[in-house]
Amino acid sequence: MQNNPSGRSLLEYPQTPEQASEHLRLTLAFLGKHQLPPDPLHFTLAYEYLLDRDPALKQALDQLLAQGPMSHESAIELYRRFILDNNERRLDEIRNEMRSVIVDTIAGVDEASQHAELTATNLTVTSRRLSQDASVDDLRVIVSEVVTETRNLAQNSLTIKQMLDDTRHEIDNLREELDRTRQQANTDPLTGLLNRRGFEAAMQLACNEAAHYQQALTLLLIDIDHFKNINDTFGHLAGDKVLRNIGTILSANIKGKDTVGRYGGEEFAILLPSTSLANGRQVGEILRMNIERSRHRSVVAGQEIGTVTVSIGATEYAFGENTDMFLKRADDALYESKRSGRNRLTYLELPTA
Ligand code: GH3
Ligand code: MG
Ligand code: MG
Repeated sequence: MQNNPSGRSLLEYPQTPEQASEHLRLTLAFLGKHQLPPDPLHFTLAYEYLLDRDPALKQALDQLLAQGPMSHESAIELYRRFILDNNERRLDEIRNEMRSVIVDTIAGVDEASQHAELTATNLTVTSRRLSQDASVDDLRVIVSEVVTETRNLAQNSLTIKQMLDDTRHEIDNLREELDRTRQQANTDPLTGLLNRRGFEAAMQLACNEAAHYQQALTLLLIDIDHFKNINDTFGHLAGDKVLRNIGTILSANIKGKDTVGRYGGEEFAILLPSTSLANGRQVGEILRMNIERSRHRSVVAGQEIGTVTVSIGATEYAFGENTDMFLKRADDALYESKRSGRNRLTYLELPTA
């Protein structure tokens, strides 16, 4: 679980204090070497670069540094693109816009209802004048006052209706944008699959449901074997294409309630609800074989990339355990697949009580 570019939270630095100190030292050395000022802007970029958890940032920074000293503008541009989380900020903005639309509407309705109250008071006063000795002339005046007041009231209701229609329209637009932004925040742009964040949210729900209905839930972690070689030999674009191809194979071979996500750089994860470990292993084996049989070509020269294989770790959910423990067991199984030769599936049964 080394790379998690798409769903990574910048607040998560899974390092021990000693590792963090060492990383700090390396970051300062890096800044010195490239003659970059050690301000928060450059420091954060260098720190993330050396953590190597976002290949796109690494590639962009490598390219810039290869062209000579990096300008301040370029650093800001990189920071905007890779460090600031646009979706998060947009979600915040949408929340604020919704709040202000609602506050404005409440103020508008308040004002309109005060008008309506005034009209009602005027009508009450007018009605009191309808005593039995009211003359025809009095009646004529009263009728015309009532007509004016009711016209005001009708106008007032129309204003309220218009205002509420406008608000509904604005809220509908914001809601659509909210859905779009939320979906973007959970989607990996390269493969169109759920990113780590989206997958983890789905995983939390699936675990809750499995525990609630006491139904089996199997998790597969899938990591491409020697993926770095593909990038090194055929280039990053070819690597990206392989990632997309694998994503497509995975999606094509699962059914309705199953969830597939890109969990990290070249790592995928699949949740199989209502599926025992024995059945989940079969699904995993089919995926592994389909990937082994698939052929990939590089984008530029159409070169044959050759066989791509994956290692898989499989395990079943223990009711009540947290998602970290569940993931850890799948990761241990995956590690065992790598250790024992790759292109295979290893499973870990639940520890018996
Ligand atoms: P192993 O069999 O042990 O898993 O070896 P590996 O080479 O697959 O694993 P390693 O972790 O050494 O390398 C993973 C590589 O995946 C390094 C990283 O640059 C690359 N990678 C991660 N994300 C992307 C991406 O979005 N696109 C491309 N093209 N490469 C990526
Ligand atoms: Mg990996
Ligand atoms: Mg790998």
